[in-house]
Amino acid sequence: MSGAGPIRTTCPYCGVGCGVLVTPDGKGGATVAGDTAHPANYGRLCSKGLALGETLGLHDRILAPRFHNRETDWDEALDTVAEKFSTAIRDHGPDSVAFYVSGQFLTEDYYVANKLMKGYIGSANIDTNSRLCMASSVAGHKRAFGADTVPGTYEDLEEADVIVLVGSNLAWCHPVLFQRILAARQQRPITLVTVDPRRTATAESSDMHLAIAPGTDTSLFNGLLHRIAAEGAVNGDFVTRHVEGLSEAVAAACDMPLEAVASVTGVDTNLLDEFFSLWTGTEKVVTVYSQGVNQASDGTDKVSAIINCHLATGRIGRPGMGPFSVTGQPNAMGGREVGGLSNMLAAHLDIENSNHRALVRGFWNAPAMPEKSGLKAVDMFDACATGQIKALWIMCTNPAVSLPRANHVRDAIEACDFVVVSDITETDTTRIADLVLPATGWGEKDGTVTNSERRISRQRPFLPAPGVARHDWQAICGVARRMGFGDAFDYQNPAEIFAEHAALSGLAARAGRDFDVSGFASQTYDDIEPQLWPSPGTGTADERFFADGGFYHPDGMARMVAVHPRTSPNITGPEYPFILNTGRIRDQWHTMTRTARSARLSRHLAEPFVEIHPDDAHANGIAPADLVEVASQHGGIVARALVTDRTPRGTLFAPMHWTAHWTALGRVDAVMAAVTDPTSGQPELKRTAVCLRKATMD
Ligand code: SF4
Repeated sequence: MSGAGPIRTTCPYCGVGCGVLVTPDGKGGATVAGDTAHPANYGRLCSKGLALGETLGLHDRILAPRFHNRETDWDEALDTVAEKFSTAIRDHGPDSVAFYVSGQFLTEDYYVANKLMKGYIGSANIDTNSRLCMASSVAGHKRAFGADTVPGTYEDLEEADVIVLVGSNLAWCHPVLFQRILAARQQRPITLVTVDPRRTATAESSDMHLAIAPGTDTSLFNGLLHRIAAEGAVNGDFVTRHVEGLSEAVAAACDMPLEAVASVTGVDTNLLDEFFSLWTGTEKVVTVYSQGVNQASDGTDKVSAIINCHLATGRIGRPGMGPFSVTGQPNAMGGREVGGLSNMLAAHLDIENSNHRALVRGFWNAPAMPEKSGLKAVDMFDACATGQIKALWIMCTNPAVSLPRANHVRDAIEACDFVVVSDITETDTTRIADLVLPATGWGEKDGTVTNSERRISRQRPFLPAPGVARHDWQAICGVARRMGFGDAFDYQNPAEIFAEHAALSGLAARAGRDFDVSGFASQTYDDIEPQLWPSPGTGTADERFFADGGFYHPDGMARMVAVHPRTSPNITGPEYPFILNTGRIRDQWHTMTRTARSARLSRHLAEPFVEIHPDDAHANGIAPADLVEVASQHGGIVARALVTDRTPRGTLFAPMHWTAHWTALGRVDAVMAAVTDPTSGQPELKRTAVCLRKATMD
């Protein structure tokens, strides 16, 4: 397995998708370095990527299937899964079962899971933890462009004159992409603007920081659209030829002159005026947005408000400009490509479109296909709690702690008749499962991932699977065969799955869709990286989406969407006077099942904390480093007080990473309300009303 030279693979953490060179030591460990030939990172790695070698090893690994705490073998385990799912489907119909999967799945895992659920079981009840990451961007893209098409590339950031980072602490959450921006800024002037309630590391490196009140992004960008219209900055020629809905969108923003935006967002009028002038007066603007936009009960509207400004000015489809949603997880984009969300089909097609269903059903020779979208993440676990879902398969994710209202989710998993969990290590979710399946992890898996700019790269194995662990696609196909769908799931390796996925994308492209990786299938599997889709190449202008002004709505026009701010900036009251915001820290990943193994990473911020403004700390008798309780009506946590003016008065910030596995003091997602965006189904993870007090030790 060690081979002649370093093995080229891809980092398993964030959506930047950095190339990694791995040199195994032959004893289960490895050294890592950045891949200088990979166009995502050109050799750079952040702290998490550099510590990948420290996270290997068998500690806490699940090495064999386990049924009700009894070790079993794969045959019995897969027989059990097939029998439980088949029984539920026979007695209660296909919508009584569900899969909950992950943005850390490889594309091949995602493809077969979707094919089994949507084409053979006949339900759309497959959703993913990427619902928590970028579902609002998907919905916003579909509304504006007619398809979930990400128009931006990383090179656009280096070519822009102004970069606006909205709800994105890029410096900590997509560090290598941020390093690329900083490096480009040393070569020529690039003005960096951060829009974020907190003074993050990103904000501190920016030329301008708009510390808007939480949840007021739509008002800010409606205000910008109002300014674009008032200043005559609309690109009339582009709009006439390529955009519908300008007048309605501008009318919806008519109540947002500068003073009104200042009043709602809390940002100084002069600073707002400077930002609006900078944006309208600069042709090459990229607006990057991430979880601060997506993770909101009006996330889709926020996305639309941003895209509206780019459509109105024609700043899209050309180098150095455009709206650009960056994904959180390593393969959130790959999941979108194969229909990983419950409202999508493979090849970026829509499950509720009869032509799309017919195309995929014919290609798969599928016996069944649902006509309606399935349950989205939050609803899926509610359906477990009410007994609608009888059998649930959770793969490669830890929802017992990572979904909002986590205590309720945990109860829902325990209430479900049968829950099988596939994972590499013990987690809060494996501990409450009926059946646990040992999966392979990074370094053992073989397949493809797609990063935020649509670049497909390989993940390659360099370690043997531990114990009897199997790849997720193998476990899924094993169950499919036992359910009687053998012919359609007779894959021998991930290359065969990718070839089928690529062929389907070619069919979809001929039907007028954006997504086409069929050209990749003409290469050997080992050569298909790292390249942008739609076709193998260098990502130059001829591959740029919307370069010709054509969009994917039937008339070829884009749509501006009239959006009205829906959320109240003030959700607090006497009982819960603070707004709690959650997010990532620089050196941990998700629920820390991998990164916590590195002592080096834990030195950055070693324990759970809550950021509190000094005035709020003083008013509540809280000193720095005190233990404090933060509680909503859903649950509470205890954490260390980090008194800092980085967080504005009246708001708190807590990292999302620490779970019951690492601390007995509670899980922050147990505190968060499960309010979701009505269009995207993405939960609000940035604003929950909470109370705060110094913890007592009795
Ligand atoms: Fe991995 Fe993201 Fe860091 Fe790159 S920036 S090394 S993909 S965590």
